[in-house]
Amino acid sequence: MNIQSLSVCVPANKCINDCRFCCSKMHTSDYRDRFTDVSCYATYTGNMRKRLEYARENGCNTCMLTGNNEPQQNKEFLRVFSEVNRSLRTPFLNIEMQTTGAFIDPDFLDFFQSSVGVTTIAVSVACLDDDENNRDMIQTADKTLCLKTFCEEIKKRDINLRLCLNMNDGVLAHHAYTPESVIELCSALGADQITFRALWAPDSNTEQGKWISRHVTAKTLDFIETLKADVKAGGKYLDTLEYGADRYDYHGFSVVVDEDSMSQETNKTAVKYLILRPDGHLYSKWDSKASLIF
Ligand code: SF4
Repeated sequence: MNIQSLSVCVPANKCINDCRFCCSKMHTSDYRDRFTDVSCYATYTGNMRKRLEYARENGCNTCMLTGNNEPQQNKEFLRVFSEVNRSLRTPFLNIEMQTTGAFIDPDFLDFFQSSVGVTTIAVSVACLDDDENNRDMIQTADKTLCLKTFCEEIKKRDINLRLCLNMNDGVLAHHAYTPESVIELCSALGADQITFRALWAPDSNTEQGKWISRHVTAKTLDFIETLKADVKAGGKYLDTLEYGADRYDYHGFSVVVDEDSMSQETNKTAVKYLILRPDGHLYSKWDSKASLIF
C-alpha cells in the first residue's frame, strides 16, 4: 500500500471558521466522537495507538493534524495524540498541521512545536495579498488574523512553512493573477513550500458548491493550466510522490499541483491518504464511510 500521509481528524463540535469553499460542509460527517465521550475514552486511545502503528508499519512517514475544524480547537486531544505517538515503536517524526492560523498566538505555536512535535505548518490561504479579503472568505471570528504576522511567528521558530492556496478568482486582490506574482508574494512571506489546491464541488447545490461555481471561473482554471505548463517547462523535477503526483523545484519552492485534494482518483494500486476519524477508525476516502479500513 502506498500511503502519502495519515490525516488525524482532531475532534471539535463546530469549526471556528466558516470558509466559503469548505469541503467538509459539502458532505455529511457523522463519525461518533469517541475521544470526547468519556465512556469510550480508553477504547479510543487504544484504537488510536493501533491505527498509528498500522500506518507506520505500512511505510507512512507523515502525519497531518486536520479535521472538520481547526486543530487548535482541541488542545487536550493534541496532548493525548502526542503522548500516544511518542509511545509507538517508531513514532511519527514528520508532523504537519493544517490551519488558517485563526486565534493561534505565539504561546500556542510554542505548544505545537515543543509539546506536539509539529514540524510543518500548512497555512490555508484564500487571499494572499489582502487580510480583510482572506478573513472574509474564511469567515473567521478572528478579526486580527494577519497572514504576514502568522508566517513570521512560524519562521521565527524555524518551523517549515507551507502555503496552501485555495485557488479562486480572488486569491490575488492587488497583483496580476500570474504565477510570478504568487511566487513573489509567497517568497516575501518566507514560505518553504507551496501547494496549489484546485477547489471543486462534489455537489454544486450546496452553499459552498455555489460559491465555488461563482468564484472558480475560467480565470482560475487558466491560471492553473499556465502554472502547470510553467512548472513542467521551467521547474526541476524532484520526485514522484507515492500516489503518482510529480513534485518540482519551481523558483526554489517545492511545488505540487494537487488536483485531487479529496483523494478521488481511482488508481487501484495507490492509497493516497489514511484518515483517522474521531470514531477511532481508519478510512481511505474523505467522503465515504464505506472506505473503512479497520
Ligand atoms: S477551517 Fe477548514 S474545516 Fe473550518 S470552515 Fe474552513 S475549510 Fe472548513
